[in-house]
Amino acid sequence: TIGMLCMDQHGDIAGACTTSGLSYKMKGRVGDSPIIGSGLFVDNEIGGAAATGMGEEIMKTVGSFLIVELMRQGKTPQEACEEAVKRIITKNKNIENFQVAYIALNKKGETGSYCIHPGFAMMKYKDGVNERIASTAALD
Ligand code: ASP
Repeated sequence: TIGMLCMDQHGDIAGACTTSGLSYKMKGRVGDSPIIGSGLFVDNEIGGAAATGMGEEIMKTVGSFLIVELMRQGKTPQEACEEAVKRIITKNKNIENFQVAYIALNKKGETGSYCIHPGFAMMKYKDGVNERIASTAALD
């Protein structure tokens, strides 16, 4: 899965995400990427979020929508990503078996990323500079 969040020169936010293709696609299974609010959510008044990882857990918590709503309530993108991951951890006894990672962007241009297990990175492009940011992880 590839998730992308962008802000233009006017401060307008857009987002996109791919599916992971055929990976984990048993017949009839739909992942979180095509489900707005789960794999991707953008509210141009607040910000956006995108997810990758175990789609079932992302969908059960409507993770990207949750992150945008947490930012609406005042959390930074980083705090909101952490809260969304912690909700999944709290509801699961088998978190060693799957990964979930989120990225988020708010109207100030602040970003955040967080995952269950270490190993994810987000690329940030701003003012002509491309930067690799290693996501912090709950089980680091
Ligand atoms: N993370 C997703 C999944 O669990 C990706 C997708 O929707 O393809 O399948």
